[in-house]
Amino acid sequence: MADRTERQAQATVHAGGAWLEAVSGATREILDPADARPFAVVAEGDEKDAERAVAAARQAFDHGPWPHTPVAERAALLRRVADLLVRDREELGLLESRDAGKTLEEGRIDIDCVADAFRYFADLVAAEAPGRVVDAGSPDIHSVVVHEPVGVCALITPWNYPLLQASWKIAPALAAGNTFVVKPSEITPLTTVALIELLIEAGLPEGVAGIVTGPGHTVGARLAEHPDVDLVSFTGGLVSGVKVAQAAAPTVKKVALELGGKNPNVVFADACATDEGFDTAVDQALNAAFIHSGQVCSAGARLIVEESVKDRFVAELARRAQRIRLGRGTADGVECGPLVSAQQREKVEAYVASALAEGAVLACGGKRPAPAETRPESGYFYEPTVLDACHREMKVVREEVFGPVLTVETFRTEDEAVLLANDTEYGLAGAVWSADAGRARRVAGRLRHGTVWINDFHPYLPQAEWGGFGKSGTGRELGPAGLAEYREAKHVYQNLAPKPVRWFAGGTD
Ligand code: NAD
Repeated sequence: MADRTERQAQATVHAGGAWLEAVSGATREILDPADARPFAVVAEGDEKDAERAVAAARQAFDHGPWPHTPVAERAALLRRVADLLVRDREELGLLESRDAGKTLEEGRIDIDCVADAFRYFADLVAAEAPGRVVDAGSPDIHSVVVHEPVGVCALITPWNYPLLQASWKIAPALAAGNTFVVKPSEITPLTTVALIELLIEAGLPEGVAGIVTGPGHTVGARLAEHPDVDLVSFTGGLVSGVKVAQAAAPTVKKVALELGGKNPNVVFADACATDEGFDTAVDQALNAAFIHSGQVCSAGARLIVEESVKDRFVAELARRAQRIRLGRGTADGVECGPLVSAQQREKVEAYVASALAEGAVLACGGKRPAPAETRPESGYFYEPTVLDACHREMKVVREEVFGPVLTVETFRTEDEAVLLANDTEYGLAGAVWSADAGRARRVAGRLRHGTVWINDFHPYLPQAEWGGFGKSGTGRELGPAGLAEYREAKHVYQNLAPKPVRWFAGGTD
């Protein structure tokens, strides 16, 4: 890792096949959220660096070999990247853990999932037919629909799953034959820089992969509005997503937005009828809300539980939440790391304060841990927090907190459960817990969310589309639709026996 962090200190803008310093010469210290101390330095790019990277990606798309490279070769390169990720799993997992504050095990799992994304898109393009022949109704017409790369893609990613979110964009963009400029979150850029190095090692042609590290309002905004960018794919918060869509509109580029969520976890009493069922539902509610300190777009941050089991459920949930071991993600036995930044922790604190002011009842947490609990670390820790007696008008129930805060609401009937679960401007993910398979399927069918889990929470599959209804975004990542985002459909209509049509009489006499 020393090599990588030293390299990043020198140059973190990659454009046209070369690592460069920022045009301004500026740099940024990357903080370890477990102790709030800098542990790496990267170039702090701005609009000029975005300009340079887009020009290189444009050149590589318009004049380079990648868009025309046979699909089998593109797929083989993606598989080599997956192999390199496996080779560097430990180093990258550790880097992700330090950068984003997640546990080392979560960091490792992230890298496995990144490798899976590269393999999935390699397999998907390799298995495809080269085009779809359309029956034009005449033997004299040959009509085929083919798919071509969109062009230069701007890929903007968040800090919670830095490399995973980047891979859901980079792997399909490359599989489809595009060139790209990625802009990772300014606070967690390190593994994305490392991935660019792996792409080069795997043999990606010069200029196909670009990266600019730096802030959203400069680098990201310039990429979104740039006339030479054909597509912008953004993952992040709602406010930034709207700005990206607005910046992209005048150039009518393709826009894909993967935004936030306020995800319901609906628990029916029948799921808790046996000791085993109760234990599983509580355990998974804990996992849904608190993994990665709740900094997950699909976090089950709204527990919607049937009134008859609420008291018992919340008491057990709070008991277990209080026992979650906080600390540096790489330390033995630690189950939850810190929040990613001081700013994020302050935001969480403000939401908890507003909830209490609006009448929520604190079942556990609600404060920074005592120093003894996370010793020797002094980073941005916050206790897992359960807020009972919440209702749908509360700010903490309506807005995405993005921290270890679980709100509890109750229902009496199936209709009421569905009404509450759908009462959000978002629509990313949700779950229903029930021992009654018919009820579970019925409720799942009525939920207006992009992913619905029945008796589970959080798993996703690279083969299945991921994305949101409502303000959780537009477009989909993963699955066949996640590849389609990076393609233009082209209809090639060939007349095998051309003749004059004589619509216009002029010139025939
Ligand atoms: P954010 O919106 O602050 O930043 C995301 C990225 O956008 C960063 O790279 C940032 O620099 C950039 N950015 C910010 N302003 C911009 C602008 N005006 N123009 C262009 N780029 C800009 O989000 P975050 O705090 O990094 O991430 C957390 C958010 O991401 C949460 O809302 C979470 O739900 C969402 N998220 C969604 C998914 C999903 O799959 N739907 C996955 C992960 C995270």
